[in-house]
Amino acid sequence: MEDVEQVREGWREKASEVAKHIVAPRAAEIDEKGEFAWDLVEAFSKYGFLSLLIPKEYEGMDTDITSFCIVVEELAKVCAASALLVIVQTVGTMPVVLDGTNELKEMVLPRLAKEKGLICFCLTEPDSGSDAASVRTKALIEGDHYVINGRKCFITNGGVADFYSVFATTRPGKRIEGITGFVVEKGTRGLSIGKTEEKMGIRGSNTTEVVLEDVQVPVTQRIGDEGAGWWQMMRTLNRSRPAIGAQAVGLAQGALDYLIQFFQGKGGVTEREDRFGVPLMLADMAVEIEAARALVYKAANMLDEKVKGTPVQVLSAMSKYFASDVAMKVTTDAVQVLQWEGLTQRHPVERMMRDAKVIQIFEGTNQIQRMVVAHTLLKAK
Ligand SMILES: Cc1cc2nc3c(=O)[nH]c(=O)nc-3n(C[C@H](O)[C@H](O)[C@H](O)COP(=O)(O)OP(=O)(O)OC[C@H]3O[C@@H](n4cnc5c(N)ncnc54)[C@H](O)[C@@H]3O)c2cc1C
Repeated sequence: MEDVEQVREGWREKASEVAKHIVAPRAAEIDEKGEFAWDLVEAFSKYGFLSLLIPKEYEGMDTDITSFCIVVEELAKVCAASALLVIVQTVGTMPVVLDGTNELKEMVLPRLAKEKGLICFCLTEPDSGSDAASVRTKALIEGDHYVINGRKCFITNGGVADFYSVFATTRPGKRIEGITGFVVEKGTRGLSIGKTEEKMGIRGSNTTEVVLEDVQVPVTQRIGDEGAGWWQMMRTLNRSRPAIGAQAVGLAQGALDYLIQFFQGKGGVTEREDRFGVPLMLADMAVEIEAARALVYKAANMLDEKVKGTPVQVLSAMSKYFASDVAMKVTTDAVQVLQWEGLTQRHPVERMMRDAKVIQIFEGTNQIQRMVVAHTLLKAK
């Protein structure tokens, strides 16, 4: 059997090569045009990045959370929007992998793993963001199918997905106990795409409204039991938040790498830059990135090895918010270091700073992550 460390190194090498040769040359253009990169779907699918956590029996890569984070980190060093493509595929897939019936897995997973199919995760609504238990989208049973009505917003890949993991209430007013997950296939009558968002950062990622009007979904496309959706979502987010942290670490590392190359290219820092403390800023960036990386891979290891100790939701939340706060600080400082030039598109740190802001907000804002940490600590004996 291949050593687990070797397998992970294999993923790092592969992702690093893809990042360097395929993603990096496209990063600025993807941001500028705000366009979805279908060519990268093709490439990522070929290298297995779109089926990382799908089990082998459904033709996926069957890898672990650490490898997932490694792939995301390497891609995010050159383009955070492209790394999000890999994350969202896993977030949309995870409820089905964790709790779907074999029939549902057969319907969805091989198409994602082998046919370049995309999936998205539909939770957020205009009146239900951080307070996710208050979803208003209703799924009411009628014989052998459910009828779903509601409107989701800010859905990554909403306009390009083949499958939609939709979370709705099957018992209106019951909050957590009422939430149930469903898979809705593209082309189902009543499913349509609303507004596409023009964002300041992560612009290459497709973000849309998803509208569900009398959408009929067979009972067989329910994910697990009625009322199990909340726990599917929590287990999914615990697994994906370290990957968001990895995206932030990669982004920050990409900014620092760029600065180092820049200063090396011009023969080092000038006397003036030295007086302004540029070398010390670079050192601080390096330390902060290492600290964030350590937290991200500690969370990933805890999930992979089922380590007892700090509750997993705490480490996942810590890694997401600490790493994205570090990415925000590092990229802001990177712009500062380059002074007025840092504000121009001559340097990628301008794009990276805009991307970092988005990471602080999605997948649960950093305020909400802090609440998860604080509440769990206060509840502990
Ligand atoms: C680019 C992008 C992609 C996204 N992709 C997806 C996706 O694929 N699927 C999906 O379902 N969602 C997605 N989202 C939605 C995202 O998860 C939500 O934006 C996020 O959870 C916050 O919800 P909200 O925007 O409604 O803010 P709100 O919940 O309205 O919060 C507004 C502000 O108040 C703060 N706040 C709220 N409650 C509290 C509290 N109790 N204590 C302290 N502060 C509080 C928040 O931190 C925030 O700063 C995406 C968002 C973005 C920006």
